[in-house]
Amino acid sequence: QAKTQGRSRVCCYQPSMQLEVERRLALESDLRRAIEQNRLSLHYQPQVDAEGGIVGVEALLRWNHETRGGVSPAEFIPLAEESGLIIELGEWVLREACQCLQRLDADRLPRLSINVSPRHFSEPDFVACIERAVSGARIAPERLMLELTEGVLIDHLQDAVNKMQELKRIGVGLAIDDFGVGYSSLSYLRRLPLDELKIDRSFVQDLDDTNDAAIVQTIIAISQHLALDVVAEGVETDQQLTLLIASGCSRFQGYYFHRPMSLSALGEVLLAPHC
Ligand code: C2E
Ligand code: MG
Ligand code: MG
Ligand code: MG
Repeated sequence: QAKTQGRSRVCCYQPSMQLEVERRLALESDLRRAIEQNRLSLHYQPQVDAEGGIVGVEALLRWNHETRGGVSPAEFIPLAEESGLIIELGEWVLREACQCLQRLDADRLPRLSINVSPRHFSEPDFVACIERAVSGARIAPERLMLELTEGVLIDHLQDAVNKMQELKRIGVGLAIDDFGVGYSSLSYLRRLPLDELKIDRSFVQDLDDTNDAAIVQTIIAISQHLALDVVAEGVETDQQLTLLIASGCSRFQGYYFHRPMSLSALGEVLLAPHC
């Protein structure tokens, strides 16, 4: 029986692989067009303190595909990385974010974070690009936060550190996103000019697992030791929030508070007094 299964698996495998390749190629050329036709937008998810007050906002890319509807960034960001389109996408996100910071003043929108792809970060003119965007929009640089992943540190750590120092000279904020899932050793952390660590959602989701709870507590302790802000991602329940607060976390992002929303919805949320 195993043999028959094995054989049928082999015969079904190839067509589906071919379909997958075709689907990806189609999606890639669609993405190219989407950039030109302005079918991309940013959604905004607030980050809050324990009282629910908004301390910052993360910008998240959205693609409204002509026929497929919403395509998840988890699907198209890797495609954009491979094809190099991520550079254009990243520049678009940067411009859009700076415009948003310009339109909403610091009292309403203290800080906006954007996600930076490792490939974009490694471009030789990345720092100049950030500097141009920030000064062009005339915004206080510390209101823009760049979320980097541990991936930017893997290959050329010293180059990455140098770049991060240049970015700090400009004055923008630096965060490590999805912290805890990468291959990083903890020892490099103190060499990095960071402002914030974001605890990956996967640990927050499994907080009732003692191992994950221990990891979360360790990340929080490291953050405190290095005087970094720590943001817990993907907070969905009251129970998670309680455990996080008990562990010393003071900033949160997740559906429990706010889902990612349109710019106009964000404007209303930022105006509403919180209770
Ligand atoms: P990320 O930067 O870690 O963003 C957080 C993701 O978690 C977002 O998914 C957000 O919608 C989701 N999320 C927030 N709160 C909750 C929650 O309580 N529960 C659950 N289940 N999910 C929650 P999204 O928007 O699908 O983005 C996925 C990833 O795509 C991002 O992860 C980021 O790595 C990447 N991405 C998104 N926008 C950009 C962008 O403009 N540039 C780059 N390079 N990457 C981006
Ligand atoms: Mg992020
Ligand atoms: Mg994250
Ligand atoms: Mg993520």
